[in-house]
Amino acid sequence: MEKTILSGLQQKDFEDLTEKLNASKFRARQIHNWIYLKSVSSIDEMTDLSKDFREELKNIAEVSNTKIKTKQISSDGTIKYLLEFPDGECVETVLMRFDNRANLTACVSSQVGCAVNCAFCATGKRGFIRNLTPTEIIEQVLTIQRDTGLKVSNIVFMGQGEPLLNLENVLKAFDIFRDDFQISARRITISTSGIIPKIKELADKKLQSTLAISLHSAISDIRKKIMPIENKYSLSELKKALKYYIEQTGRRITIEFLLIKALTDTVEMAKQTALYLKDLKCNINLIPYNSTDENEFKKPSGTSIMKFKALLERSGKKVTIRLERGADIDAACGQLSGKIKK
Ligand code: SAH
Ligand code: SF4
Repeated sequence: MEKTILSGLQQKDFEDLTEKLNASKFRARQIHNWIYLKSVSSIDEMTDLSKDFREELKNIAEVSNTKIKTKQISSDGTIKYLLEFPDGECVETVLMRFDNRANLTACVSSQVGCAVNCAFCATGKRGFIRNLTPTEIIEQVLTIQRDTGLKVSNIVFMGQGEPLLNLENVLKAFDIFRDDFQISARRITISTSGIIPKIKELADKKLQSTLAISLHSAISDIRKKIMPIENKYSLSELKKALKYYIEQTGRRITIEFLLIKALTDTVEMAKQTALYLKDLKCNINLIPYNSTDENEFKKPSGTSIMKFKALLERSGKKVTIRLERGADIDAACGQLSGKIKK
């Protein structure tokens, strides 16, 4: 008989399990806390359960079946994991530490590969392989917690895959992050290339997470060149969906804007972008392009980044520049391929 995997279960599932073993709901709560709050790697570490009960539990269950295939640590403290699931598929997960150690952000993947195929993205180059299950999504965070002994405080769906094309599973994982990991919804960011019907669905759910939109160009022809999704869900339709989202949720959105030399970092682009965002309640996060050696794009210069930022700030919006994390281990945005490098 295949053993039950405890990671990914919720209170009700733990209760079903303890009932099978004729144990109380209190035992279920203890196991739950060992998994999510203390992130143990084995049932033997659940020391407030009797040895006999642990043996019974071990006969029918195990903590996890996700393996760390490789782990790389950057000089800035960023850690990149390549994780392997039982079917042999792998995804990358990145742990980033910002200024203080209390703030630990996990960048999680939602799919193996991605169908959206943006021209600048290493994940897109692989094409779509499969969706991750809710358990596989949360296992990424549990693995980090088990490995480092630290508690993750923020989650960004900015790893491999398009979360809104696997929305059902992403939302199930979201519920577990909020209810079982006890990470507040506002500390969870879902990033999307702009899947309009799904943005409307999130709006109707009035989800209190942060929505980040990969805009990358406010000029349709240029957006089409780098993001084929623009042919299906155009900038003008996207804007309507974003307005609706802001109305329904009352939340400010984040606009991600990729700066590629001589393509999206121009003065004309900054003007068009300011115009496009004028009546949207948003913050803007500029992402200097990270090289992935599989395409022709180039990084913007420092001066063009600062000029672009200044032009957007004139519109009164808050504009930040995303620091490159883990560059020495290819862990920065868009560099995750999930392939095992030879
Ligand atoms: N699929 C989602 C989330 C994953 S990508 C999305 O596209 O939004 C997270 C962010 O990294 C996106 O804004 C994406 O456009 C950006 N990105 C992809 N490739 C990049 C690269 N080579 N350099 C910098 N950012 C990149
Ligand atoms: Fe997919 Fe996002 Fe990469 Fe585009 S940038 S290919 S949507 S993962």
